[in-house]
Amino acid sequence: MNPTPLDKTISYIAALQALKDDDRLRGLKPRAGIDFVSNDYLALASAPRMRKAVSAALEAGTPIGSGGSRLLRGNCEEHESLEAEAARFFGAETALFFGSGYVANVALLTTLPQRSDLLVLDSLVHASIHEGARAGRAAFCENVHNDPRAVEDRIRDWRGKGGMGRVWIVAESVYSMDGDFAPLEELVAIADRYDAFLVVDEAHATGVYGEQGRGLTAPYQWRENLIVIHTCGKALGAVGALVTAPRVLRDFMVNRCRPFIFATAPSPLMAVAVQEALSILQQEPDRQQRLANLVAFTHRELAVRGARSPSHSQIVPYIVGDNARAMALASALQARGFDVRGIRPPPVPAGTARLRISLTLNVGEDDVRAMLDALFDETSGKS
Ligand code: PLP
Repeated sequence: MNPTPLDKTISYIAALQALKDDDRLRGLKPRAGIDFVSNDYLALASAPRMRKAVSAALEAGTPIGSGGSRLLRGNCEEHESLEAEAARFFGAETALFFGSGYVANVALLTTLPQRSDLLVLDSLVHASIHEGARAGRAAFCENVHNDPRAVEDRIRDWRGKGGMGRVWIVAESVYSMDGDFAPLEELVAIADRYDAFLVVDEAHATGVYGEQGRGLTAPYQWRENLIVIHTCGKALGAVGALVTAPRVLRDFMVNRCRPFIFATAPSPLMAVAVQEALSILQQEPDRQQRLANLVAFTHRELAVRGARSPSHSQIVPYIVGDNARAMALASALQARGFDVRGIRPPPVPAGTARLRISLTLNVGEDDVRAMLDALFDETSGKS
């Protein structure tokens, strides 16, 4: 007998129950508490200048929706203006605006690498990169995290076995769950040595690192073999992603990239917001400095409490290990008014459930001190 729709529903229930049994059941919660979770690193998401830019554009008649694909009526002057400014700001030949970082990663990895190519991914890259690699045409492999020697070995091995296509090395400049930095200089050198492309996702570095927030790839821009993803939903306080690339690759994406061609273009208002964020980066460099100070302060405060974070960035992982304990600790901090979230596998490796403490200009030093006091209070069993 064929299964009824209800039988099929029951398998969903079983799957949800299995997640619950494993302390991995997710649910949506309203925003509450002091922000130690968002990626709004420079507090631009509700900055008055951003609001003003968007309302001025609305007043001036900028449409809310783009009305179609970029290749049809959806190509607005706001998109073109943003892309021209982004290319100039990031020091790249061209930029292309996508609706989100997730889409940008999937889009470029399913469009540029071809069937005979090899993708060499760092094992800790974002889900969207894994997704793009799986959905794309090229062979792919995962490498030990932040190990340039292993990248080189992989390429040599593949070439030795007759691999003839291009190699694409894919990394993040700052890793989203561990907050550590990629060995970019070595990766650039390997890409050059083996005639490979280097794809760097700067999601957590754009706006935060590099001169005026141009990211950690800024010193390597204008290379023919570098493609960078600058997401706009984190330090830039908006939504979207700017992919910077040599012109020929941009033109190829415009012609062949299905998520670009067959999707309604992002709202032109979002393009206005992102362009305003790029101006703010240049005109208010103190934001970058204030965040750097807060990051240094937090790492010092951790050390004072006898704890050392494995990262030196604005992403501070506090490794708990056990899923249930990590979630219970996050809940205890939330109950005390701090919006700290637990992260369980699969976004992080099994056995490394953690608090992912995110530092933004939405908080000050007093908030950090109070949150750390609460954290150490909870973990030392005093509360
Ligand atoms: N890349 C990295 C490294 C990320 O951490 C994220 C989101 O968290 C993305 C890409 C996806 O970007 P977006 O949120 O703009 O879709």
